[in-house]
Amino acid sequence: MNRFFLILGVIVLTFSQCKMKKGTSNLTSLSQYKADDLGLTFKNGIPVIKLYSPTAVDVKLNLYDNSETTPTLRAIEVKKDNYGIWTAQLLPSDIEKYYTWQIKTEEAWLAETVDPYTKLVSVNGKRGYIEDVTAIKPAGWENESYIETSPNDAVIYELHVRDFSISQNSGLQHKGKFLAFTETGSTNEQGDKTGLDYIKGLGVTHIHLLPFFDYASIDEAGDLNTQYNWGYDPQNYNVPEGSYATDIRKPETRVFELKQAIQAIHKQGIGVVMDVVYNHTSSKNDSPFDLTYPGGYYRKDKTGNFTDASGCGNETASETAHFRKFMIESLKYWAQEYKIDGFRFDLMGIHDIEIMNQIAIELRNINPNVLLYGEGWTAAQSPLPDSLRALKKNTYKLLDVAAFSDDFRDGIKGSVFDEEAPGFANGGEGFEENVKFGIIGNIAHPQVDMKKVHYSQKPWANEPFQSINYVSCHDNLTLFDKLYATNIEASEKEVLQMQKLALGLVLTSQGIPFLHAGSEFGRSKGGVENSYKSPDNINQINWELITKNKALVEDVKALIKIRKEYGVFNYGEAGKVQKGIRFLNTPQPNVIACELDGTLVDGKSEKVLVIANGGTETVLFPVDYGNLKPIYGNPKITPDGARIPAKTMVIFAK
Ligand code: CA
Repeated sequence: MNRFFLILGVIVLTFSQCKMKKGTSNLTSLSQYKADDLGLTFKNGIPVIKLYSPTAVDVKLNLYDNSETTPTLRAIEVKKDNYGIWTAQLLPSDIEKYYTWQIKTEEAWLAETVDPYTKLVSVNGKRGYIEDVTAIKPAGWENESYIETSPNDAVIYELHVRDFSISQNSGLQHKGKFLAFTETGSTNEQGDKTGLDYIKGLGVTHIHLLPFFDYASIDEAGDLNTQYNWGYDPQNYNVPEGSYATDIRKPETRVFELKQAIQAIHKQGIGVVMDVVYNHTSSKNDSPFDLTYPGGYYRKDKTGNFTDASGCGNETASETAHFRKFMIESLKYWAQEYKIDGFRFDLMGIHDIEIMNQIAIELRNINPNVLLYGEGWTAAQSPLPDSLRALKKNTYKLLDVAAFSDDFRDGIKGSVFDEEAPGFANGGEGFEENVKFGIIGNIAHPQVDMKKVHYSQKPWANEPFQSINYVSCHDNLTLFDKLYATNIEASEKEVLQMQKLALGLVLTSQGIPFLHAGSEFGRSKGGVENSYKSPDNINQINWELITKNKALVEDVKALIKIRKEYGVFNYGEAGKVQKGIRFLNTPQPNVIACELDGTLVDGKSEKVLVIANGGTETVLFPVDYGNLKPIYGNPKITPDGARIPAKTMVIFAK
């Protein structure tokens, strides 16, 4: 962590908090409301439920015996305070009952809605459930804690809960469920380890799971065999998704089974990163936010219409006190109650810089190793000025929050917006500076010519760990499909060779390497570019490929091992990267060579040399290697140097 930056950030925060106080004499704002007791809490065993609804003229709490019936049990008195908070005192006998809110505006009563703060819900998230969520836990959960891997040492593996286990060849019993992560000893038909055992064997430190909060697109009561969604359509932010639980009729099951999965992953020494989508809600006018505070949680244009930086019909307003409070408390809840080790922010560029910095401070107080990163862009225009939002170009203003490097991603494999456009590893030309910029973690470096970098005009990371280095993720073509689309004449073997080079660049760069699950075994989605609701046969992990493409899997394992063994791939500080990495002149274009000085990390006179040949010809690298020897790759060494075959990477070390 950069101390100067932390101090600067605190000053900025303090200053803006002062501004906020001055501008909010209005008592209905939550900026001065410090208690974290919105939604359901228990006071001496008695349920108390609070709703923030500053513009309502009346509020009803509907109490139900179960998740299906219509008549309410009895009228509940709801009292309003000066903050715009409505409070309902219930009875101990109301535990295990269900509830909804309903508010009356100046015009009319609105539709019933689930409580935005609810932590337990009925099927499809329609009603809140009155029970103490902290009591729902597997044996030994009291001792559950975060993994102790710092962001500097992270290697992330991105996976969808259902894709992981759903295929017939997964060898896993709990197909499509959280519980698949609790299974050990699973294999494919060829006898190779599958499931969590396989992931553990790769050496990755964190499993990043696509959305597993309660999302709207799957009908949990419908036929789950015929439904699929990535889950970027939030319904209940503080509840796990029901379709991943073995029994959706019991509100406790999804909580219990998610905790079991997290416990099992932690047991392997692997952390869990949660993909969070606070930037928009699945619906606007009938979301829990809008039915309890119409318009209050969203950005609007001058004419009062919802703006749409998410491309999904709405965008949340992280600059408001109430959404800020919601977002921070929701994240703290996941971190504390479920022991989530990190968060990936979908369309982080919609959120303002200040909220991201507050989040970083709050979450780091809970877990100093918390991993925070996001997409530093939006899907469309936002009314909030660029300078205030957590865009990639503003990453240097963020405290301990990283952004995805599309500069590196597209430099390696070509633009994601043009299927046939290649990059450094698959036949493109002129991407050397993008790749070098990625290798150093998107910080400033005297040998990287920013004028030649596609996308960024200047360095955007303050420290290397602020860069998420990747070449593919769930979005767009898989790496294999992209490499194939850009080289349709190439053999499968040649495509896998490019894949190996692409992953080699990611895994030897400064910053945080991020792997899309299956990129290490040539995962294909049959060329489907956006598979967010494609069926299982497109999205599922095909576990036969870990056997078929074992050589690539073994290469990725080797690279992760080398990364962990040689400190030079992870200097951890911008100053050391700038001093430690020297790019060498190369005899031809599309070749990158860099020396990494080991004295800066282990005090030994260790030197590592990495040469990546993205060209079409073998390159002779005329360097006197002394006692350097190849520890990765297959160069042909002759007295005049080393011959590095096309589309390969070689690592030399002492
Ligand atoms: Ca759901």
